[in-house]
Amino acid sequence: MVDMSKIVKVKILGSGGEVGRAAIFVNDRSNNKGVLLDYGINFDEEGLPRFPEHIRPIDVGAIVVSHAHLDHIGAVPRLYVSGKPLTIATKPTFEVGNMLIKDFLKISGYYVDYSEDEVLSMYEHSLSIDYGEEVEVNGYTILFTSAGHIIGSSLTYLETPSGHRILYTGDVNTIQTWTLTKAELWPMKIDTLIIESTYGRVKHPPRHDTERRLIESIEEVLDSGGTVLIPAFSVGRSQEVISLLAAELPHARVYVDGMARDITEIYLKNKKFLRDPSMFSKAVENTKFVKGWQDRRRIWRKPVVIIASAGMLKGGPALYYLKKIADNTRNAVFLVSYQSPDSPGHEILETGRINELGIEVKARLQWFDLSSHAGKDGLLEIIYHYRHTLKNIVIIHGEDESRTYLANEAREIVGNDVNIYTPSNRQELILET
Ligand SMILES: [Zn+2]
Ligand SMILES: [Zn+2]
Repeated sequence: MVDMSKIVKVKILGSGGEVGRAAIFVNDRSNNKGVLLDYGINFDEEGLPRFPEHIRPIDVGAIVVSHAHLDHIGAVPRLYVSGKPLTIATKPTFEVGNMLIKDFLKISGYYVDYSEDEVLSMYEHSLSIDYGEEVEVNGYTILFTSAGHIIGSSLTYLETPSGHRILYTGDVNTIQTWTLTKAELWPMKIDTLIIESTYGRVKHPPRHDTERRLIESIEEVLDSGGTVLIPAFSVGRSQEVISLLAAELPHARVYVDGMARDITEIYLKNKKFLRDPSMFSKAVENTKFVKGWQDRRRIWRKPVVIIASAGMLKGGPALYYLKKIADNTRNAVFLVSYQSPDSPGHEILETGRINELGIEVKARLQWFDLSSHAGKDGLLEIIYHYRHTLKNIVIIHGEDESRTYLANEAREIVGNDVNIYTPSNRQELILET
């Protein structure tokens, strides 16, 4: 006999078969307002924003934002055009999110149907909570623990008014990094797991080995008088590399350019969200931040390490430095971020060139896997952790090949009594406990 009261509807508004545009609406039958887990955007091949499926703000009791990346928070202000729902996230998620949304509006504002007014309204109707702090909204209980992905990133434990218990991973990392602890899996009886699958079929090499190789490679280049450019995402990856270099190569001269500087300020203001605050403070003291064009024109001429955005070389100061150092075989470009197939970073790794800009790289070129997402082993570890009570697994935020692979591996762990879904956008799942 199915206990009808514990049925929930889970509607996929985005991230069904794509990395990005996370947007999942959970609605308990006993309740007329539901909870929206993330409301993010994606970008098409031309770099134009793609929004998630529409939802009426009046149906949303609360929006829970797992972390500050635009593919999780970027569409939230849209709900404030005609409504005033409550947005719940950690303090760093709100602070970093504010910076990323403003930057997004500056670049793509023409194509966005909200403005700074709606962003402001979102912040006026927001509630920031800490890890381990429980809140109740419209009968839904919400609890965050650390997700290990970027500062303030959260796993969301959600219990519906009828008692259906959901864990939503957002983007998750199950290994400890320099700046963050690994995802914290609480001992709870979970009925439904909604899990990301960005690297659902990828086995990351051991982090320590990758870092060792990166450090050795940087040393070689600096010793021969070359300059190292590390294009890196301004949120997370830059702070990781700053910390790694301060610990392992403390005498290297390290510069940071781009938005990473302001993001690092937010890291320093939210120390309790860091694994080792005093280590991070020391790492920042060891780092020089580029203040403007006077610095920018000068620093790359010496054997230094420059960490600069954008991580995929889509623009930003990284591109400026690349033009300056690409021609010399003594220099190096070490990519440490995910490179989407249509990005200049991907092109450069494949061909050694960025055709459109006429850049040919003679400098040493290498990619290092310093991912902030769990690989397949980490994702399966989460499934394994909750295997005894799981009834449903919903796999989102991944390409279809990743999702299918992960679904098959998950089946090995949970057996045939668990429903495993790889839903598409607009699909509504009716889930039972
Ligand atoms: Zn994401
Ligand atoms: Zn993310």
